[in-house]
Amino acid sequence: MKFQNTLQFAQQLDQKDVLQSYKNEFIFPQHNSKNVIYFTGNSLGLQPKRTKKYVDEVMDDWANLAVEGHFYAQKPWWDYHERFANPLSKIVGAKPSEVTVMNTLTVNLHLLMVSFYKPTKTRYKIICEEKAFPSDQYMFQSQVNFHGYKADDAIVEIKRREGEHNIRLEDVLAKIEAVGNELALVLIGGVNYYTGQVFDMKIITSAGHKVGAIVGFDLAHAAGNIALDLHNWDVDFASWCSYKYMNSGPGNASGCFIHEKHHNDKSLPRFTGWWGNKRENRFQMEQNFDPIIGADGWQISNLPILSLAPYLASVELFAEVGMEKLIEKRNQITSYLEFILHEIDTEVNGHFEIITPSNQEERACQLSVFFHGEGRSLFEYLIKNGVVTDWREPNVIRFAPVPLYTSYEDIYNFGQILKQGIIDLHK
Ligand SMILES: *Cc1c(COP(=O)(O)O)cnc(C)c1O
Repeated sequence: MKFQNTLQFAQQLDQKDVLQSYKNEFIFPQHNSKNVIYFTGNSLGLQPKRTKKYVDEVMDDWANLAVEGHFYAQKPWWDYHERFANPLSKIVGAKPSEVTVMNTLTVNLHLLMVSFYKPTKTRYKIICEEKAFPSDQYMFQSQVNFHGYKADDAIVEIKRREGEHNIRLEDVLAKIEAVGNELALVLIGGVNYYTGQVFDMKIITSAGHKVGAIVGFDLAHAAGNIALDLHNWDVDFASWCSYKYMNSGPGNASGCFIHEKHHNDKSLPRFTGWWGNKRENRFQMEQNFDPIIGADGWQISNLPILSLAPYLASVELFAEVGMEKLIEKRNQITSYLEFILHEIDTEVNGHFEIITPSNQEERACQLSVFFHGEGRSLFEYLIKNGVVTDWREPNVIRFAPVPLYTSYEDIYNFGQILKQGIIDLHK
């Protein structure tokens, strides 16, 4: 489609947008009595209006039923998490038995590494991407140290080539092959948090398996953003947080995927607790752990229902919309944002460079822009003018035009504000 940098054109796209009405399902912070333009749904998604009802329901049940709520609440708490299996499995491309919700992301990755990082004297290395999200880096270091290895030796990073912003798939595959027999685990972010680059998880998984390694993914920036097919890609395990694209609220519960082929494997170590025990005999409090066959068998504690309630609201919203429509709009609105950025750059010489891949197969809902001029002051100008973005050192602003609640008119208006900001700062 040939885009135009006009209000009228943006409004026409909005009129044709089948997801247009969903913008109204979200609560926006206000700036001068108007909705902000919110580009940070990749960091913390906006609150859906329907969420409060889910939380209130739990609060009311707790008030009215107290302990009886475990079994007699409107949605009983003891099996509350089982409501996620169907809708969530569709979002990540899994069988219902392969997904569960619990804890938070880094905690889950640690727990999954208990099962899936089993280093031996000869096979103990982990491959991850260079400049992985800091929490992941700390996790890798502590895991290899815990097993008695040195980080320098056991953690192998896939580097960007000199002068390039993204990691080449061929370099990922070459590294996997090179580490070969020493490779215990590949664990990378399916979508890079900094550049928005999307990795080909199917090919990476098969390359890892070929050399005898386990392959897992951190899907923090992927869940609710890209098309996932974890079961068919044969991914061993994955985990994601729910507060970014999935709009479940700050720090809320995480989701996990564990491939069916591992469900019955008694040789896998795991850290256990009563909620991973079969429901039939969970409350008989027997001495021997009898795991649920499925991802739920990795559960440990009874669940934080007040954290799950907003997540359930979100998962049901996603089920209603469906990933296909979301992705279709995501591609178009991200391309429109790219177009607007190029237009403004040409009009006022903004000196910025989009470091996210321009190839649609390798990106999703995020454009990271490197400002060669005054990035920080422009970022502050945007905030003062009602555009919420996110600043990353040394000079990068990330923009995520989340398809559920961003309009094309927002993108046009953003362009005008950006242009004015560059003009003002040059004065
Ligand atoms: C956001 C994010 C996290 C956050 O981890 P928490 O345990 O939820 O604090 C971890 N990894 C990646 C790649 C992220 O983008």
